[in-house]
Amino acid sequence: MEILVGIIIFVLGLCFGSFINMLIYRTAVQYKLKKIKFPISNDKKARSFCDYCGKQLKLYENIPVFSWLFLKGKTKCCHKKLSISYPVVEIIMGILFIINFQFLISNDKLNWFSILLSLLIIVFLVFSAVFDWKYMILPDFSTIILIIIVFFGVIFDEKNIISYLLSALISAGFLLILNLITKGNGMGMGDVKLAIFMGLFLGYPNIIVAFYVAFILGAIYGIGLIIFKKANKKSQVPFGPFLILGTLISWFLSEQIINLVYSIY
Ligand SMILES: [Zn+2]
Repeated sequence: MEILVGIIIFVLGLCFGSFINMLIYRTAVQYKLKKIKFPISNDKKARSFCDYCGKQLKLYENIPVFSWLFLKGKTKCCHKKLSISYPVVEIIMGILFIINFQFLISNDKLNWFSILLSLLIIVFLVFSAVFDWKYMILPDFSTIILIIIVFFGVIFDEKNIISYLLSALISAGFLLILNLITKGNGMGMGDVKLAIFMGLFLGYPNIIVAFYVAFILGAIYGIGLIIFKKANKKSQVPFGPFLILGTLISWFLSEQIINLVYSIY
């Protein structure tokens, strides 16, 4: 990939990250997880405004990552702290956009259909992961959009749809059993619904890689929390972000991981 093309794709990713941050904020308000301290007029709804005082943001206060750096992580209008999660989400999206384009090129899939499909999937996966991380909820609308997108992807890609449906059914069933055993502690119904998407999207054997990675990373994180005494055994850790991380790693790296496993055994 040429450097200039890479920069353009990265910046495009930053902008989509900015969109995700806005979507997270609006969804949290919608779900009544976040109270707004000021009335939003119809005029302001269309444009960005300060989370704290409702003041309309100027264009230069709204540039991904750079605004956060220039303003030193504080709002310009009322000097309140701006979450580090804003620039982090934007940078993650920039990196994922680059990885995705590299992946599409090396798999000879650089067509508009694949580009659109993969970008939509990345946007809603990252949205769900960050939302679950912050609020312990995987929003249904995002999971439904993901399932619809990937369903059309499977049909138009002339894949063996029965095998993908079976993979979705088994994945969701597996998490549903865990949900029933743990009585909903740790594995929520949101995770079960997300597994339908994962199975449809990844199919066998990639779905196994995704679960494998998700459970290992989730366990490492959980143990880490206990060791550093930031949590006890009853603390809730959202599992959605790990499922999504597993999905992304399986999506882009499953071939390498499966080869590695075969070379070990
Ligand atoms: Zn303000």
